[in-house]
Amino acid sequence: MRQFAIVGSGPAGFYTAEALAKAYGEAARIDIIDRYPVPYGLIRFGVAPDHQSLKAVSKRYDAVADSAGVDFIGNVTVGRDVSVAELLELYDAVILATGAPHDRKLGIPGEDLPGVIGSAEFVGWYNGHPDFADLDPPLGGSHAVVIGNGNVALDCARILSKTQHEFEGSDIVNHALAALDDSAIRTVTILGRRGPHQIAMTPKELGELGHLEASVPIVDRADFPPESADAALEPGLRKSVTLLRGFASLPADKPKRMVFDFFARPVRIEGDGKAERIVVERTELDEKGGARGTGEMYEVPAALVISAIGYSTPPLDGVAYDERGTKFLNENGRIGDRLYAVGWARRGPSGTIGTNRPDGYEVAEQVAAALPPLEGEERGGAAGLKSLLRSRGVMATDYDDWRKIEESETANARPGSPREKFVRVEHMLGRLGR
Ligand code: NAP
Repeated sequence: MRQFAIVGSGPAGFYTAEALAKAYGEAARIDIIDRYPVPYGLIRFGVAPDHQSLKAVSKRYDAVADSAGVDFIGNVTVGRDVSVAELLELYDAVILATGAPHDRKLGIPGEDLPGVIGSAEFVGWYNGHPDFADLDPPLGGSHAVVIGNGNVALDCARILSKTQHEFEGSDIVNHALAALDDSAIRTVTILGRRGPHQIAMTPKELGELGHLEASVPIVDRADFPPESADAALEPGLRKSVTLLRGFASLPADKPKRMVFDFFARPVRIEGDGKAERIVVERTELDEKGGARGTGEMYEVPAALVISAIGYSTPPLDGVAYDERGTKFLNENGRIGDRLYAVGWARRGPSGTIGTNRPDGYEVAEQVAAALPPLEGEERGGAAGLKSLLRSRGVMATDYDDWRKIEESETANARPGSPREKFVRVEHMLGRLGR
C-alpha cells in the first residue's frame, strides 16, 4: 500500500486527494494534514461569507473525505510539529498544498502604523480565522482605503459597505457582524495604480456593487479610454469594464460611497501614531502598460487602510523556495524527489478555486507515474506520524473530531446562517473535551 501525505486541506489539497484516490483505488492511503482541527482552508477562511454558492464546492470535498482511503489529520503544523523531511520518511510522497496565506508587503513608509492591515488579516477576521480573531480593525473613522484592483479588494470593500440585513444567510462571524454594524465608515476608496483596462476584477464580483442597499460605486468617466478601445479586451475584462462604465451613470443617492480611484499609486501612509491619511501619486500608463508616476501628489483620508495587493506562500524548512514568485520552487509541481506542490503553493496566488482541479490532477498523474502501486513493505504512514506527534505532546485531531466541531457550529448558527464558526482553536478542542 502506498502512503501519501497532503499538507493543507484547501481546494488544492482536496482536488489532489480526489485525483490520487481515483488513480490508486485501494492501493493507497491518503492523509490530509492541516494546522486546524477543521478543513477547507481558503473555502472556510478566504471565500467571502456572503458568497455561499462558492463555498458549496466543499460538498465535493466532503465526498472525498468520506471515501475509504482518505483521512484527515488536524491540529498539526508542518514545519513546527513535524518537518517535511520527517514526512518524507513516513510517506511515499508529500504534496504541499499550503496555499498563500500571507499578505505581500506594500513596501511604503507608514505601512506598520496601527490601522494599516493586510487583506489576509481583514478577510481572516470576518471569516473566523483563529489567527485574526483579535484583529479589531478600526471602523470608527468615516473613511477607509482599500489598495488593489483585484477581487480580494472588491471583497473587502463590499464587506465594509454592506448592511446587517445584506449579511443574512452568510456565515460571517458574530464579532465581525456586530463591529461592521457599528462602523462609521461612509466612504471606501479603492486605489488602483493603473486604469480601468488593467483591473483584475471579474464581472460577477464587480456587478454586485451596483446593487448594494446602502452604498453606491463612484467612477470618473475621465479615467476611461474611448469606448472603442474596449473591443480589443478579452471578453471577461470587457464585461467588467462595461460594468464600470455603467457605474458612472448611477445616481449617488445612497448614504455610503465606494470610490474607484484609478491611476493612483500609494506613496506613504501618515498619521499621529495611527493611520489618518494616505499620500497618493497620480500615475499614467507607460509604453509597456505599467504605472509611471506623474509627480502629482494628493491625500486621501483613511483611518483604516487595507492592502489587497496579493498573497505569498510562507517558506518551509528544507523546501526550495522561489523568492520572486512567492511560492515553492518547482517544475510543473515537482519540487524534488517525492516532494510536490499544488495550488497557490505551486503557481502563486492567482486563479479561481476551479483552477486547482486540473492542477491537482496533473500532479497526481505525475505521482502515479513515478510511484506505481507497491507490493511489499510499507512506510510508517499515519500510524508512524501519530506516534511521532504523541511523543512530542502534539494533540492531533481526526475526521470524527472535525465532524463534532462542525455539528456544534451548525447547532449554534444564527437563524438563516449555515454555521457560527469557532474563532479559536482552544474552543474547537474544548468542544472535544480536550
Ligand atoms: P490579484 O488579482 O493579483 O490583484 C492584485 C491587485 O493588487 C492588482 O490590481 C495589482 O495591480 C495590485 N497591486 C499589486 N501590487 C501593488 C502595489 N504595490 N501597489 C498597488 N497595487 C498593487 O490578487 P487578489 O485580489 O489577491 O486575488 C487573488 C486571486 O484570487 C485572484 O486570482 C482572484 O481572482 C481570486 N479571487 C477570486 C474571487 C472570486 O472569484 N469571487 C474572490 C477573491 C479572490 P497591478 O495589476 O498593477 O499589478
